[in-house]
Amino acid sequence: MKLATRAISIAVVVLAAVVALPAGAGASPAVPCPSLPSQAAIPARLVQGVDLTVCDLAGRSVSANGVEVVIPARGEGVQAEAAGSTGGGFLRVEVGADGKVAVITEEAQAATTTTSAYDRCTDYSFATTAKFSPTAFYLNSTERRPGNIAKSIFESIALSSFSTWKNGTNSCGLTPALKVPGSLSSGAWTYDANFTLSGGCGTRDSRNVVDWGPLAGGNLGLTCTWLVNGAAVEKDVRLDNSERAWTTGQTGCTTAYDVRSVLTHELGHALSLGHAAEYGGSDLTMSPNIGACQVSARVLGAGDVRAIQTQHGG
Ligand SMILES: [Zn+2]
Repeated sequence: MKLATRAISIAVVVLAAVVALPAGAGASPAVPCPSLPSQAAIPARLVQGVDLTVCDLAGRSVSANGVEVVIPARGEGVQAEAAGSTGGGFLRVEVGADGKVAVITEEAQAATTTTSAYDRCTDYSFATTAKFSPTAFYLNSTERRPGNIAKSIFESIALSSFSTWKNGTNSCGLTPALKVPGSLSSGAWTYDANFTLSGGCGTRDSRNVVDWGPLAGGNLGLTCTWLVNGAAVEKDVRLDNSERAWTTGQTGCTTAYDVRSVLTHELGHALSLGHAAEYGGSDLTMSPNIGACQVSARVLGAGDVRAIQTQHGG
């Protein structure tokens, strides 16, 4: 009799423990550590919600939408924005103070058109990202430059691209009032943008750099943004030197990509603009698509002007 009572008591205790587990958890259930694929980059969806205090993912790259980033430290974030000939790429990974990873793969739009009837002077589509007010970007015009792009010409193009945003230079007769911060410093700099060997956003070093180097996939140019507690603290820009021909002129182009158009687009990201939604063929500078020989992105369209005015109007 005594034995039977004890057995029932134990059974009740065990049952209570099993029932109590889900109710007692309170907070959302922990996301299990992903089983890590053998390739260098982990698909970003596998780390959504993962707790870095439990899962050791230090130094690992994650990928989505054709771009990669290295998972940042607690309280920090990293964002990759790419331009391509067949579309752009976007990925932001943030790690909370509690170590939880948040993955964002969609860009928020500030304004969009909904028809293809617009051209670049009537399309006011734009997007912005965390406001960044740099003091300087350092241009590495010396290393890894494509062989047909002269150093002095590249420097001149880069300064023109930066001035386009400083002055709001556009093809639509708009006269924006701007106070765009910072400058582009060309010269003998040999700082490297903080990219990984596979062309993703790596670990920040507090210096904003524009350079050439290999990018992944079909990316023409990529801008990395590092964030601390949601505030942008560093931007690096890289143009791809591995997969395509580049041009600096408009004549005789058949398959090459225009350095000034792509760099002006990337410097828009560097000044905290996102990708404009592209419904038609309006081809704003901040549209994520830049085709071979396309030079229209050298100067701004209506949405680009609206975007820089929103971020840095003065
Ligand atoms: Zn872009």
